Amino acid sequence: MNLIFLGAPGAGKGTASKKLSEIIGIPHISTGDIFRANISGGTELGRLAEQYISKGHLVPDDVTIGMVKARLSEPDCSKGFILDGFPRTLNQAEALDSFLTETGRKIDRVIDIVLSESTLVDRLAYRRVCIGCKLSYNLKSHNITDNLCPVCGSSLMMRDDDKPEVIAARLVAYHKDTEPLIDYYVRTRKLVRVNSEEKIADTFANILAALEIKGMKQ
Ligand SMILES: [Zn+2]
Repeated sequence: MNLIFLGAPGAGKGTASKKLSEIIGIPHISTGDIFRANISGGTELGRLAEQYISKGHLVPDDVTIGMVKARLSEPDCSKGFILDGFPRTLNQAEALDSFLTETGRKIDRVIDIVLSESTLVDRLAYRRVCIGCKLSYNLKSHNITDNLCPVCGSSLMMRDDDKPEVIAARLVAYHKDTEPLIDYYVRTRKLVRVNSEEKIADTFANILAALEIKGMKQ
């Protein structure tokens, strides 16, 4: 099964896609991991990406697409993959589709994790990251009242990105960037919307249900 996960920041996309990867035994591929692997491995694309990043510029599409193609050509992706954080633009989505067609594959489903703006703002406002082990928590759902990491005991910190005044701007940017992508996957009949209003566990159950009901016939 070849899958893509989409979802606004705070929608639980990373957590859900990693968990699904463990359960169905196909690799979870995040753009962050691909970038880090290429940069630390000193590949040609990695060196190129590093030049842009070090100048504070966005890495151009063709560099990112090149890295994703290389990753999807590795043997562990032959039985399927879960993409998290890619594609981000229509251009990337089209490049991905033509690459997969060349290699006799296709995207089966695009899971879009949706939730209302108020829930999203609420969720991000309670998100904290441990300064020690870097795990992230939701103060509400993890019942944390002392602001300390339940795993290592270090202090928890709010990411600048999650501050209310920044969240609104992030959401506007996210929707602006993602709308053409959503439209594309609606047109190609691949999009499955999964509700994430409730707990993370319910979101995950919704994802499994969506894939079973709509994905098994293929
Ligand atoms: Zn910790």
